[in-house]
Parts: sequence; structure tokens; C-alpha cells
Amino acid sequence: MFIDPHIHMSSRTTDDYQRMRESGIVAVIEPAFWLGQPRTNIGSFQDYFSSLVGWERFRASQFGIKHYCTMGLNSKEANNESLAEQVMELLPLYACKEGVVAMGEIGYDDMTPAEDKYFRLQLELAKELDMLVMIHTPHRDKKAGTSRSMDVCIEHNLDPSRVIVDHNNEETVKEVLERGFWAAFTIYPHTKMGNARMVEIIRRYGSDRIIVDSSADWGVSDPLAVPKTARLMLERGISPADVTAACYQNALLAYSQSGQIKESDWLNPPPIDQRQMFNDNSVLRGQEPVVESRHEYVLIS
Ligand SMILES: [Zn+2]
Repeated sequence: MFIDPHIHMSSRTTDDYQRMRESGIVAVIEPAFWLGQPRTNIGSFQDYFSSLVGWERFRASQFGIKHYCTMGLNSKEANNESLAEQVMELLPLYACKEGVVAMGEIGYDDMTPAEDKYFRLQLELAKELDMLVMIHTPHRDKKAGTSRSMDVCIEHNLDPSRVIVDHNNEETVKEVLERGFWAAFTIYPHTKMGNARMVEIIRRYGSDRIIVDSSADWGVSDPLAVPKTARLMLERGISPADVTAACYQNALLAYSQSGQIKESDWLNPPPIDQRQMFNDNSVLRGQEPVVESRHEYVLIS
């Protein structure tokens, strides 16, 4: 069994859901993010947040995958301050919905003053609502941006064990682990942080507090990055226990602190029934519905 604890399923297809399930992914976490272009009004945020706890969760269930999400104002759109203010008013309503496991993904993109302001406001909101935090670290100036993100969390008195820092690489992992945060790694195809590099990170640092995810979205990315990385780890001599920790157990340990996700959610799931509807809409387009009698999962270790 695998968990992909960072994937933007709203921009993926039903083929992806099918392949993910066949590869052993039992649960996903979908962080609130931007759309590839800036939103122009608050209604667009509201409908997106609603879809994360509504239609997308239903769509995942129709392919036998448990869907959770995080709520937050992403760093890019924090730069539109008049809209950001309205999002901050809306967030508490969505952050408290069932299946929301953290505030996220929040943090820095260009490290502008507006990004800093809304990152801090959301950390305060997370504290107020007793929520975990998922941090998006900037892709440019990665090392400084990651250090700064953790500094700000500490300034706001967040407990590092309740903060998941994502998009790490070889330059950032040591500091993140030493400071007691969870270190998540996004495996993008054909990039520096590919799955072969991930194997070497586990070999060097072990699997404690390390989490593998795909961050697959509308860009070039791979929704099977977690199972593929797990397979490569096993082929290259990483122990099954370490592979299970990095590709399943640690995500569960980290996010179950929210009280919103637990293993029993998918160990005895209701069978898939594609005759079901959500607001009178189904995932089918004239196909024969899949109706299962029960699920069966095989452990990789
Ligand atoms: Zn993301």
C-alpha cells in the first residue's frame, strides 16, 4: 500500500486514478494550490475549496482511493492582496471541514513581503484551529527559502513535529531533519530530484520523518512517482521497512496528528460502486459501472 500525500488530482484524469489504484495507492492528500493562472475573484477560490471536499473526493472514491486535502492561500496568489484578504476570511470555514488534514500548501514563492504576511497569518490561523501545516518551499533560492520557512514557523511557536516541509532536496534535507520537521520530497520526472536521487537520500539519512510524494498537477509530472520510487528503492537494496516508512507510514504518522486520517479508512473500505452519484453527476459517460464486492490489497513488504 502507498499514500501519495501531495497530488493535485483536480488536474488529473480518471485514467490516472485507475493506474494509481492498480499500483497500490490507497490514499491521497490534495493540497489547495493555484490554477496555473491567477484567480480574479473570491468565488473562484470558494468553488475550488468546495470541489476539494466535494466532487474530487467523490471522484477518487469511485476509483477506490481515499481523498483528503489541505486548505490554504498559495504563495503566488498571496501577492494579490485585496483578494488575499477575502481568502483569509473564507479559510476558517473550509479548514474545519471533514477530511482536511492541514493548512497548506503555504509558504514562499518569490519571498515577497505579501507572501511573508499571508504565510504568517496562516500559521497563526493553523495555531488557532490546532491544525498541522504543509509548507511549499520555493523552487528558486531553495536553501535560503527553506531555512526561512522554518525560522518563521519557529517564530510563530509552531511545533516542528506538526509541520511538513515539502519540495526538499539534497541541499535542504539535513537542516529540516535536524530541526525536527518532517521532510517531504517531490519526485518530478526528468529532473534533478528524480527517483534515483531519492534512493540515495534514504540510503544516507534513513527513513525517519522522510516522506515521498509526486506533487503531480497540470504540469509535467507523474502520478505514479511514489510506487515507482518504492520499486526502485527495493531494487537498489533499501530495506522494505524503510520503503514502507517513506512511501506510506510516515505520511500516515504525520497527517494522522490531525485526527482526520486513519489507516482503517482504507483497510476496510466500502466496495467501489460507480452507480453512485454526486449532485446528480457520475464519473461515467455511458460505460458499464464498476460494482465491486470487496477490495483486496497486497502489502509490498
Ligand atoms: Zn503542490
